[in-house]
Amino acid sequence: MGKSLVWFRHDLRLEDNAALEAAVTRGADVIPVFIWAPLEDGAWAPGAASRWWLHHALGDLRSSLRARGSRLVIRDASEGSSEDQLLEIAGVCGADAIYWNSRQEPAALARDRGVMSALLARGIEARSFNSGMLFEPPSINNKAGKPFRVFTPLWRHYQTLEVPPPVKADLDAMLTPAKWPRSDPLSSLGLLPTIPWDAGLAKHWGTPSRAGVLARFEGFVKTQASVYPSTRDFPGEDGTSLLSPALHFGQIGPREAWHALAAAARGAPAIEEGIMRQLVWREFAHHLLHHFPRTPMAPLRPEFELFPWREDPEHLHKWRHGETGYPIVDAGMRQLRQTGWMHNRVRMIAASLLVKHLLGHWLGGARWFWDNLVDADLANNTFGWQWVAGCGADAAPYFRIFNPVAQGERFDPEGRYVKQYLPELEKIPPAFIHKPWEMGELDLDCCGVTLGKNYPHPVITHAEGRSRALAAFKKFGTTPPDDRP
Ligand code: FAD
Repeated sequence: MGKSLVWFRHDLRLEDNAALEAAVTRGADVIPVFIWAPLEDGAWAPGAASRWWLHHALGDLRSSLRARGSRLVIRDASEGSSEDQLLEIAGVCGADAIYWNSRQEPAALARDRGVMSALLARGIEARSFNSGMLFEPPSINNKAGKPFRVFTPLWRHYQTLEVPPPVKADLDAMLTPAKWPRSDPLSSLGLLPTIPWDAGLAKHWGTPSRAGVLARFEGFVKTQASVYPSTRDFPGEDGTSLLSPALHFGQIGPREAWHALAAAARGAPAIEEGIMRQLVWREFAHHLLHHFPRTPMAPLRPEFELFPWREDPEHLHKWRHGETGYPIVDAGMRQLRQTGWMHNRVRMIAASLLVKHLLGHWLGGARWFWDNLVDADLANNTFGWQWVAGCGADAAPYFRIFNPVAQGERFDPEGRYVKQYLPELEKIPPAFIHKPWEMGELDLDCCGVTLGKNYPHPVITHAEGRSRALAAFKKFGTTPPDDRP
């Protein structure tokens, strides 16, 4: 029997890793491999913030392997392809099996199919496993045998299923080769920025590691998960799990998370209807991406292809840089730039301002998020943007136009979140923190704020933005979110 390669991608952990478990169980020497191949992600190569996270997650994986007397063979596919690299490594070290865990992104799926055929054609055993989803998309269909396009029936269906337990590999039995193939240094992949803009990320996240992720998650399960339904919408509170980048890169598996939560939910049913349900939104988004692979670039509802999005570079610039004059939106956009993450409630409000009030194309927003989020995830990002824009599955109805003032007042009543990211508004009292333009000039002056100078006027009034959006969306938003094929 020859050696086994394990091709790591979005599964950067040793535990609950089905591909690794299969390789260990096979009993031959195991060679863990990571190949940096951004071009193979098509139009959605990892953005700058994701690369920062990936660098640290790889460093952590490498350390975990070293602690077990193993290594991580790192390769850069910029001068070849993943397929070439795998074949070369397999040839050099005499591997006759290559295992990996599946990804759902269309470019990765197509690449993986090609790699599988090429390996099989050369007599190499090539197998794909599931470690990234509770259930892989092809195994989940509605009663008509079609993909779910509405969330609630999918959620009900999931509640009837037994999620398989996390995979347990006997890592102590993992065999390592006497001679290792060549590896590039991690630093040579150039994942960290050359201009050091990442200080805010490091301050917020420390050095991302599986141990850190698990510690945070255990604390969340113990003390926060049961109150999540009442805290999750308040961006000024530490009320969500912060699992998203770790789930994207696979530093924690969804089945690990699910079972830890399910055990805690026995005494606290709010956990199932709260955070566990949220994990199924992630499944929903990934199932949609799998079944409708054109959606990262095109609306799921084809009628929206004709939507008259407005191209306004000045508005887009203001939105990107947190200069819209709506404090909750601007705080969110600055949180994004500083930490690489934005609270879900604020993602919805900020996205809504762009696509509804400003009629900006959802793809322009999706691209900006993509480059700036440490948790940038093609399924979740596409789904989130199309949901807000009303052009996706089970989307917000066309008449739902978030009022950024009312949302701010409801979910950040004291303005704690806003003030954290907009220190220039520190002295504005809570009654005006979400609408500083309603204060008199003198009062504003006493708070050190001059609109148009150190904080902008609103880019558009809510009334104007809303009526313009209603008029534009009305023609497009009438089709119900049904189960059309
Ligand atoms: P929690 O509230 O603790 O939820 C736990 C996990 O459930 C999350 O980590 C995530 O994996 C999943 N989840 C929660 N909400 C959603 C949702 N609405 N859709 C899909 N999965 C969900 N999430 C990303 O992971 N990557 C993205 O690129 C992304 N882009 C988004 C863009 C827009 C416009 C919107 C509205 C939402 C987007 N989301 C994205 C979904 C959501 O905002 C984040 O998953 C969440 O804020 C992450 O924080 P958390 O881990 O603390 O979430």
